[in-house]
Amino acid sequence: MAKVHVKKDDRVYILSGEDKGKSGKVLKVLPKENRVIVDGINIVKKHTRPTRTNTQGGIIERPAPINASNVMLICPKCDQPSRVRRERGEKGVQRICKRCERPID
Ligand SMILES: [Zn+2]
Repeated sequence: MAKVHVKKDDRVYILSGEDKGKSGKVLKVLPKENRVIVDGINIVKKHTRPTRTNTQGGIIERPAPINASNVMLICPKCDQPSRVRRERGEKGVQRICKRCERPID
């Protein structure tokens, strides 16, 4: 099983699809599906019927999962979409930005 290269709360850049070129924060990682949910990205509208608590019903907008290979981590240090490498350090495995060579975690 491939390991997802991004984590919750990472900022990511969208590489393809309708939201190409946008960025957002990772809300959830779904490792089994190699998918991620990114805040504000791949918004789907879900129609809901009126219920006792939501008497209006209507449309709920929420982000749907996208494939993890379609996102690139934005390095918090150099603020650019960057490839990362993994290095084993004192604190366990750290991700290093290939662009600025600084640790991300
Ligand atoms: Zn960097």
